[in-house]
Amino acid sequence: MVDLIRGIDPDHVRSNLDRVRDEIAATGRDLADVEILAAVKYVPPEELDALAAGGVRLAGENRAQELERKATAHPELTWDFIGHLQSRKVRQVLPLVRWIHSVASDSALRELARHGTSQTEVLVEVNVADEEGKSGVAPVDLSDFLERVPCRVVGLMTMPPLARQAEDSRRWFATLAELAAAHGLRELSMGTSQDYRVAVEEGATILRLGSVLFR
Ligand SMILES: *Cc1c(COP(=O)(O)O)cnc(C)c1O
Repeated sequence: MVDLIRGIDPDHVRSNLDRVRDEIAATGRDLADVEILAAVKYVPPEELDALAAGGVRLAGENRAQELERKATAHPELTWDFIGHLQSRKVRQVLPLVRWIHSVASDSALRELARHGTSQTEVLVEVNVADEEGKSGVAPVDLSDFLERVPCRVVGLMTMPPLARQAEDSRRWFATLAELAAAHGLRELSMGTSQDYRVAVEEGATILRLGSVLFR
């Protein structure tokens, strides 16, 4: 179990956010087109005030139970769900979030059909390198899967294969961007602390950042 992050300094968060924004601007992308989502799975609830004070507006949580705790205590933040989505948690997660990034199973689709509303919007997670045992829809199955989603799909999300260097992720980000374009989907949730610059260059619209914001 990874240690929780304690003693977050709002000034550090603010300067980290500023640095990431400078890097986004340096690629020529419009800052308004790239959201920074703070991935808070290792941030305990009592540290969330410091994040908000540092300028974080959008947060992502991986576990339904933690999401419930954190989102109800911090309604001033916009919340997305970014973790592995167990279908039995769909009902609990939906009212707490703007978007679920990680829709990838038919059982989740059944729960979305049951508990979604006309406002429900999601991203579909793609297993972009078709890795064994990893969640996400395989690229070859994506068209069929998208046809079965019972609510509005706004984009695609991916976690590329573990890589030694950020550059290794570029082809996977480019693949996700091509898949999104082919299906007329706008949002691209891709890029973490280690490879977000490459993700921005390949068209990311939501960066999911943890360690780079908090240290
Ligand atoms: C933890 C997490 C991130 C952020 O990872 P960092 O390396 O800390 O930036 C992004 N996406 C998902 C799905 C995560 O679980």
